Amino acid sequence: EKRKLKRLKSIPTMTLDGTSIELHANIELPQDVEQVKESGATGIGLFRSEFLFLNRDDLPSEDEQFEAYSTVAQNMRGLPVTIRTFDLGADKSLKNSCRSAINPALGLRAIRLSLAEQAMFLTQLRAILRASAYGKIRILIPMLSNDYEISQTLQLLNHAKQNLQDEKKPFDEEIKVGGMIEIPAAALSLEMFMRKLDFLSIGTNDLIQYTLAIDRADDTVAHLYDPLHPSVLWLLARILSTANRANMPISICGEIAGDIQYTRLLLGFGLQQFSMYPAHILPVKHEILKSHLPSITPIIQKILKTDESEKIHGLLSKLNN
Ligand code: PEP
Ligand code: MG
Repeated sequence: EKRKLKRLKSIPTMTLDGTSIELHANIELPQDVEQVKESGATGIGLFRSEFLFLNRDDLPSEDEQFEAYSTVAQNMRGLPVTIRTFDLGADKSLKNSCRSAINPALGLRAIRLSLAEQAMFLTQLRAILRASAYGKIRILIPMLSNDYEISQTLQLLNHAKQNLQDEKKPFDEEIKVGGMIEIPAAALSLEMFMRKLDFLSIGTNDLIQYTLAIDRADDTVAHLYDPLHPSVLWLLARILSTANRANMPISICGEIAGDIQYTRLLLGFGLQQFSMYPAHILPVKHEILKSHLPSITPIIQKILKTDESEKIHGLLSKLNN
């Protein structure tokens, strides 16, 4: 079975009716690129840069970060590498910052923490920009909820660009900046995000957590964490159709993108770019190669008209048959 999947590695990812699909990889550390190469992924859709903090309590310096980012960019040889700025806070906290919160997932997390710790953020932006001279890097901002966060981020980025120019250090002046759609407020104000950013990525892990008010790290409510809740499906369908209509590049980088149970559902919602752990790429590709969009669409219409879980599960089985 594994050997059979391996044969799929170098053939183009396309549905039976000829729709091209992009499969990107999620990574946590530079050495993960080896697996990415083996999977045949055509880019990195999510580099969770906060993993550079693992097993240490100081900040990685600009040069250390530059080393990590540029190594990945170089090893990917011109394929896109999407670096998400630090998603620290919630479960992954800064040891020296002595911040604590009662509801960390609703607190000073991700872009909120980066904007509160501007020296740290500037260091990271400079490292990413410097690395962008070595490959095709894109910047992805986590946990955005409003337009002030976007303009503050873009301002800091311009500041970093200006400094590097003054220092005569090369970088990609056209570097693309994207935002994660993982807070319901962002999903509900998508038009503004589309105007201000170059691309979007849906973080379904958090989008589900915040839509259903289910702590994704709390086992006592794990049974309520439901990617198939009608509200979640409606949100996803709406985000994808709005972005597609505007020709806005959009991907999903949450766990559901790598779960073959949901591949056809997401294709039916119009998803054309998936990002997942390298190990999931070939199984998902296998599923895509067997899928026929015109046959999927009528079932998708029914799923979106249904607001009862049992019926949704029934329709999903039909879809996957
Ligand atoms: C997500 O929220 O879906 C996501 C991809 O980011 P993380 O799991 O790192 O929060
Ligand atoms: Mg997230």
